[in-house]
Amino acid sequence: EAKRNGKNGYYVHSNEVARPTVEHIVLLSDLRKAIKNNELSIVFQPIINVLTKKIVAMEALVRWYHPEQGVIPPNQFIPLAEESGLIVPIGESIVRKALKQQQAWIQEGLEPIRIAVNVSVKELQDQDFAKRMEAALKDLKASPEWLELEITENMMIYNEPTILNNLRRIKDLGVRLSIDDFGTGYSSLGYLKRLDVDTLKIDQSFIRDCPHSHDGRAITDTIIALAQHLHMNVIAEGVENDKQLQYLANRGCVEAQGYFISPPLKSEEAKRLLQKGIN
Ligand code: C2E
Ligand code: MG
Ligand code: MG
Ligand code: MG
Repeated sequence: EAKRNGKNGYYVHSNEVARPTVEHIVLLSDLRKAIKNNELSIVFQPIINVLTKKIVAMEALVRWYHPEQGVIPPNQFIPLAEESGLIVPIGESIVRKALKQQQAWIQEGLEPIRIAVNVSVKELQDQDFAKRMEAALKDLKASPEWLELEITENMMIYNEPTILNNLRRIKDLGVRLSIDDFGTGYSSLGYLKRLDVDTLKIDQSFIRDCPHSHDGRAITDTIIALAQHLHMNVIAEGVENDKQLQYLANRGCVEAQGYFISPPLKSEEAKRLLQKGIN
């Protein structure tokens, strides 16, 4: 059967896993080398408060700087990392890099901000996920309430005890939980409260349709209202113009992220933006 991997309708079929292509095998061996040679790093995309325009968080996004092929975006290697299980060590190193940068900014005199890190279902299926998060927080002397983990709704279809235990344990640590690409997955709403979700991220496809399309507005408004009623934070993803940002401000959307505000930045540029602010 086919299984959804990331966005843009990219599918990996199980027969591709059984008979991997030469390209896949080469990329996988390159990925193993990349981990060893420290070719994976993260960029940071600012998230602002819609009303104050202050940067309140940064989302860490992985980048692979391949020696020959240049930058390989996550959609091209995260599915492979998931299939191979490499996502477990990769994910841990991303969280550590993100927390390390967050602590460095604090040491450099900047106000603390949340750091958001994407987590794959494969990572949550690992027994020791929560334990490793706890160790990372302790090693880097980071505060759990300034870390937000982004998961997708589809994770809930699995309904696996290991996933649920890991989520409960990271919530018990005080780490925040966010639902990425909200509105595109298959889910019941009950789990939002059951899992004590802190944040909903409105998928960029709905924001793209705002404010010109009725459906785009209807879905965006509904997600904002849902978040308000359930006392959750709400972030609009993929804000690309001032009309969209204005619309979101009028609808009471709390936070926003997107190219109009800032593209993902390397750490030095991110720091500069944190110092001088947006505008
Ligand atoms: P995501 O978590 O939903 O991240 C948002 C993606 O949208 C990022 O793509 C970002 O660069 C892009 N984006 C930001 N603003 C805009 C905008 O205004 N317009 C448009 N069209 N796009 C915008 P990126 O960095 O290529 O990441 C793609 C996906 O790969 C992420 O989607 C996430 O699901 C996954 N990913 C990225 N980093 C990691 C990671 O460290 N671990 C895991 N497991 N997955 C990751
Ligand atoms: Mg995300
Ligand atoms: Mg995503
Ligand atoms: Mg997203």
